[in-house]
Amino acid sequence: MSTFAELGLSETLLNAVAEEGYEKPSPIQTRAIPPVLDGEDVMAAAQTGTGKTAAFTLPLLQRLQDDGRVGHVRALVITPTRELAAQVEDSVRRYGKHSGLRSCVVFGGVKINPQIERLKRGVEILVATPGRLLDLHGQGALKLDQLELLVLDEADRMLDMGFIHDIRKIIKLLPRERQTLMFSATFSREIRELARNFMLDPVEVSVTPPNSTADTVKQWVYPVDKKRKPALLSHLVKDKQWHQVLVFTRTKHGANRLTKTLEKDGIAAAAIHGNKSQNARTRALDGFKRGKVQALVATDIAARGLDIDQLPQVVNFDLPNVAEDYVHRIGRTGRAGAAGHAYSLVSADEADQLHGIERLIKKPLPREEIEGFEPDHVLPEGKPQQRQRRPQQARHGRGANSGDNRPAGGRRRRRSRRSNGGSGESRGNR
Ligand code: AMP
Repeated sequence: MSTFAELGLSETLLNAVAEEGYEKPSPIQTRAIPPVLDGEDVMAAAQTGTGKTAAFTLPLLQRLQDDGRVGHVRALVITPTRELAAQVEDSVRRYGKHSGLRSCVVFGGVKINPQIERLKRGVEILVATPGRLLDLHGQGALKLDQLELLVLDEADRMLDMGFIHDIRKIIKLLPRERQTLMFSATFSREIRELARNFMLDPVEVSVTPPNSTADTVKQWVYPVDKKRKPALLSHLVKDKQWHQVLVFTRTKHGANRLTKTLEKDGIAAAAIHGNKSQNARTRALDGFKRGKVQALVATDIAARGLDIDQLPQVVNFDLPNVAEDYVHRIGRTGRAGAAGHAYSLVSADEADQLHGIERLIKKPLPREEIEGFEPDHVLPEGKPQQRQRRPQQARHGRGANSGDNRPAGGRRRRRSRRSNGGSGESRGNR
C-alpha cells in the first residue's frame, strides 16, 4: 500500500500526518497499522528510525478516537527510558492534536507531585517508564483497570535493563481484555517468551532497517588477532583521520576498557552503555555531536536509542552475536544517500559470527589486511551461499493459552478487515 488513506486511517489522522509532511507510510507503518486498527495483538520488529512510533501511535489514536475523552487511562505506552517516553508522548501530542484526547508522560528522576496533579486532571493516553508508573499506581494516583490498549516499546531494551519484573507487575494491574502491542528491535527468545505470556496470538510484522545493507554503505572486514584490536583501532582513527566514529562493542566492560585504551593513545573517547547514568550518557552524546569526543564506544542496546544520524563511519570492534544487530549497526552510517563506511575488526574466533552475517546479508564482505596488523590466526574466507538461513519461526497457533493471564474462553473477538479498503473507523471489539 502506498498511502496513509489506504491503510484505513481516519480524516483527522490523515490531516495530522500531512501536517507532519509525511508523504507515504514507511514499511513498518504499512505492515503494522492495519492489524492494529483491526484490534489484533501485534508484535513488531523495528528499531528507531523506521517510523515505528507513528506505526503504533496513529492506529492507537484512531482506536480511542470514537469514545474520546473519558477521564481515565485508556492507552498505556511503556518505554525503557525517559528520553524515549518524552519522544513518544511528543508524537502522541502531535499526531493527536485534532483528536481531543489528552496525553501525559511520567518518568522517574523528577518530582512526582506535578505528575499526580496532572493525572488528576484526566488523561486518556499515558506514556511511562516502568518504575514511576508503579510508584504512581502505588500512591493511588492512577487507575489502570479500564485500560484498552497497552504498548511495550523497545521491549528488548526493557528486558536488557532488567525491567521484566516491573512489566509483570504492571500487566497484573491491567484488564485481561485488552489489545497489546510490542515493538522490539529483534525477536530474541526472551522476547518471544514475553509475547507468549502477555499477548494473544500476536500478528508478527518485521522490517529490515532502512538501507540495511545499503549500497551507500561500504563495508570491510579487517582480519586481526584479538589482542591487537585496540591498537589497530587507534591506528585507524589516526591514519584515516576520523573525527567522529561510532565504535560498537559486545559488552559494557569491553566498551569501558576500549575507551580507556583509546584515551591512553591520545584519542578523545567516551563510552555509552546501560551502566552509565543518564547524565553521563547525555554528556557523552553531546560531546560526540559537538566534535569534542572523537570516538563514541557503545553497546548495541545503548546505541539503539541514540539520536545520531549520518555518521561518516562506524566500527565493529567486536562482531555482534546476533547477525541482525550488524545490520542495525551499519544502518547508522550512510543514511539518506550519504556515503558511509563500516569497518569490522574480526579475529579468528569470530569466524562463525562473520559467516552468519554474510549469510544474512547474502554477500561476502571484502577482507583487507592492514600492514603491521596481519593476524597470526587466519580468518577463513566468506561462504555466504553455503547454508540457508533458518526459516522464520511460525506464528503461534491459536490453541495454547501458554500462561496467558486471560481466561481461555474469554478471547476477544476480532473483526477481519482483510478486504477492507475503507475508512477503518469504529472498531467493534470493545
Ligand atoms: P521513529 O522510528 O519512530 O523514531 O521515527 C523516526 C523519524 O521518522 C521521526 O523523526 C519521524 O517523525 C519520522 N517519520 C515517521 N514516519 C514517517 C513517514 N511516513 N514519512 C517520513 N518521516 C516519517
